[in-house]
Amino acid sequence: MKARILVVEDEAHIAEGLQFNLEAEGHEVEVVADGARAVELLSDPDRRFDLVILDLMLPVMNGFEVARRTRAAGNYVAILILTAKDDASDVVRGLEEGADDYLTKPFRLDELLARVKGLLRRRRWDGVAGEEQEGLRELCFGEVRVRFDRFEIETPRGVASLTTREMGLLRALVEREGEAVTRGDLLEDVWGLRPDTKTRVIDSFIVRLRRYVEVDPSRPRHIVSVRGHGYRFVR
Ligand code: CA
Repeated sequence: MKARILVVEDEAHIAEGLQFNLEAEGHEVEVVADGARAVELLSDPDRRFDLVILDLMLPVMNGFEVARRTRAAGNYVAILILTAKDDASDVVRGLEEGADDYLTKPFRLDELLARVKGLLRRRRWDGVAGEEQEGLRELCFGEVRVRFDRFEIETPRGVASLTTREMGLLRALVEREGEAVTRGDLLEDVWGLRPDTKTRVIDSFIVRLRRYVEVDPSRPRHIVSVRGHGYRFVR
């Protein structure tokens, strides 16, 4: 599936390699080398990207700030961050700022392409939805219809397109309907992080999910907090 991808990377040889390989996969690729330019392109209403590959250490404005500003502007384009190896705190901070997934440098090409494919899956409209999905494809509760196969949520307010991790988190809760699921389990299941990682990433994603599924996100009825433990999904 063709996508428009923005690569934000200041190391020219990495940027060129990404562009070459993503274009070989049929994608349209634009490359910028600093964070401020990335924010400029991402806030341009005439451009629309399906995915951003975002290095964290960048001139002018770093990748954390790019992710933060992008989300603050209400732009939920899929974001894949690139981090230096063994820097778990950068991964966590990047996810907290709104990134969907991460890859550590140096990365293997096949791994990168697999992540890109995973992040673009939600954009699929072609009816073969569900091809790589297992289990539940659709769920209705209240005035909400979740299309796991399309990465969409329909409510009377409209249709929202979810990122891979938003959908993964919702799926993890729904699959254990009625059970209190710990933050540690969710970190491990949905993000592949160690369950004892200190982060508020789960909580910020819960805020995002509640905005989609709750009539009044400040008084959630479906994604309920379990004090000192985690979250519970209630139909
Ligand atoms: Ca860099």
